Amino acid sequence: MTTELERYAASLLPVFGTPQLVIDHGDGAYVVDTAGRRYLDLVGGIAVNALGHNHPALVEAITKQAGQLVHVSNFFTTPAQIALAERLLRISGAPAGSKVFFCNSGTEAIEAAIKLSRRTGRRGLVAAQGAFHGRTTGALALTAKAAYREPFEPLIPDVTHVPYADVAALRAAVGPETAAIVLEPVQGEAGVVEPADDYLRAAREIASAAGALLIIDEVQTGIGRTGDWFGFQRSGIVPDAITVAKGLGGGVPIGALITFGEHTSGLLTAGQHGTTFGGNPLACAAGLAVLDTIEADGLLEHVGAVGDAFAARVTEAGIPGVRGVRGRGLLRAIVLEEEIAAQAVVTARGQGFLVNAVAPDALRLAPPLVITDAELATFADALPRILEEAA
Ligand SMILES: *Cc1c(COP(=O)(O)O)cnc(C)c1O
Repeated sequence: MTTELERYAASLLPVFGTPQLVIDHGDGAYVVDTAGRRYLDLVGGIAVNALGHNHPALVEAITKQAGQLVHVSNFFTTPAQIALAERLLRISGAPAGSKVFFCNSGTEAIEAAIKLSRRTGRRGLVAAQGAFHGRTTGALALTAKAAYREPFEPLIPDVTHVPYADVAALRAAVGPETAAIVLEPVQGEAGVVEPADDYLRAAREIASAAGALLIIDEVQTGIGRTGDWFGFQRSGIVPDAITVAKGLGGGVPIGALITFGEHTSGLLTAGQHGTTFGGNPLACAAGLAVLDTIEADGLLEHVGAVGDAFAARVTEAGIPGVRGVRGRGLLRAIVLEEEIAAQAVVTARGQGFLVNAVAPDALRLAPPLVITDAELATFADALPRILEEAA
């Protein structure tokens, strides 16, 4: 008999390697595989399943919208699209004249941001070492990892990568040719790396002094992940644009570029950008359900509280093999003494927990924002045995 994974290997491009599980369904912060085994989902679809699995508000919103309209093209608009744009402008604190462009993924939001930056009349882009901004050929030029880039070079030119969280290096790289600085507020794929509090403030000053845009990539950090609506908000800056995706649709594909203020929002004009699916009513209804639920259930406070409690629990337990915990809210990395993260993913799974080896020595947690203190504690309590087995 052919197994599902054999059928997968025979039918899907191997770019993702071999999937770890065949998942059948989920509920809250748990998923169940086709063999009936249950796992606490601390990956959360890589910071996507903001409301967890099978959340009634999301199910209801999608079901209702599907019975009404799924897609109409951008020759037309829908109440859901307008409402979600207004909502994003409000929660991002964007000033008057700010605007939203909807697309379908994080990398597409970055593509839109790159095109926005070109409309300044300059070409230079400054990003950070360790940065991840997506896999399409434009966004890939901003992504730093050589293994992702090199097979596809030449990419778009005039991109400089500077050490992350290094103000002097950023200042030295930005000049009159710089169209935009593009930064994550916390680097996700690099291993959940947080800069000092004043880094984004310095980036804001440097961009303004050079007449360049400051574009903050909130694809992983946005939509409550760090305990604020957006990661940049903690530093009190006003960016020129932000990119959003992952958590926004709660699992339904949607991305957005938000341009701040009238000047930046005037850079892309009619006909200069577009997408067939972007802003479709199904995805926008999902986005509204996610934002409504985060607000109604006080999830921003919840994320801050359970994230801090979890980090404290792991740190104070003095678990052998754990060097510390990085990150904010529910975007966390457990930093290990040894490079055994890949093995720990396997032993964690054996004990009923899904985690991600974001680096050889770091486990990333980006669980549903609705995960409880008690659910997180089960993982903290299991961690000593998970690491013991992995070693
Ligand atoms: C995941 C991610 C992207 C790319 O998003 P996709 O939806 O996978 O295209 C871009 N930027 C950041 C910061 C991300 O974490």
